[in-house]
Amino acid sequence: MPLCVVGSVALDSVETPTETRENILGGSAVYFSYAASFFTSVRLTAAVGEDWPPEHTELLESRGIDTSGLQVVEGGKTFRWRGKYKKDMNDRETLDLQLNVLADFEPVLPEEYRQCSFLFLANGSPIHQLKTLDQCECAKLVVADTMDFYIRSERERLMTLLKRIDGLVLNDGEARLLTDDENLVRAGRAIMKMGPKFVVIKKGEHGAIFFGEDETYVLPAFPTPDVVDPTGAGDSFAGGMMGYLAEAAAKKGTVPVCRDGPEGAAHKWGSFPSSLDPKTLKEALAYGTLTASFTVEGFSLDRLQEIDRNQIERRMDEYRKMLSF
Ligand code: AMP
Repeated sequence: MPLCVVGSVALDSVETPTETRENILGGSAVYFSYAASFFTSVRLTAAVGEDWPPEHTELLESRGIDTSGLQVVEGGKTFRWRGKYKKDMNDRETLDLQLNVLADFEPVLPEEYRQCSFLFLANGSPIHQLKTLDQCECAKLVVADTMDFYIRSERERLMTLLKRIDGLVLNDGEARLLTDDENLVRAGRAIMKMGPKFVVIKKGEHGAIFFGEDETYVLPAFPTPDVVDPTGAGDSFAGGMMGYLAEAAAKKGTVPVCRDGPEGAAHKWGSFPSSLDPKTLKEALAYGTLTASFTVEGFSLDRLQEIDRNQIERRMDEYRKMLSF
């Protein structure tokens, strides 16, 4: 079942305590798409400039990621982000951010994308996220991510978006910023009151907390000793999670088909395909956790390029053993 994503495609420069890499492949939609491609087919919408190396598009296409929604803006420059990690690799600082083509980006989804039942609005301006949502009237599960930059600069539009989505994934600092509450349990519940039916707060190496209508639980991160570059962990988490949900729905034959015209975004959690039961959702969060644990073991997509689904499954066996007592 295809999964649609709109977000940033970037050339990142990343400084870790031991190594710096310049202009490497990054962006929220890139990490998301690649991670999700272990589970399902993905359709990507984003914008890049003329400086975009075509081999990056080839790499994504080699994973079966549909890039027909990737606009190459004539005379434009690709979005650039520069970040620096502190010693413990949990905290990072944005040193530079050049929106470039993202400043005037108009997300236009190719016709065949508009039937997507699963939609992820990766990190990007809430204006782009809302414009995308307007084009996906068949979407049955809409999950979004956001970050400090947009919480500070576009709070009002973000609040409009939150009322129209099913799930929100964000990190602990962003949850605190959004709610002005240091306590993450209170923050998670406060965000649910803003609209989403579930919220996942990611806490880096400390795992994630899930808040749903009926339950709240924690998932530890997979303890990898080889943290090289945490960039993209959040997007890979979301990619693994949504990819697994789309795969599970396809396997059970419960993917809703948008045949009789758009149903609008006003669907209720209760009308979800039955494959998205609490157990499947919990498994999806575990797959997201494990996919992210591979991402952080290399810069950019380096580590993800070395693995296949079998390695994710082997790590899942270890993770299950770790969690049973
Ligand atoms: P994560 O580590 O999962 O939060 O994602 C990091 C990715 O987000 C990097 O590859 C950046 O290119 C991208 N990114 C950073 N800032 C922004 C922004 N303001 N809007 C969209 N994407 C961003």
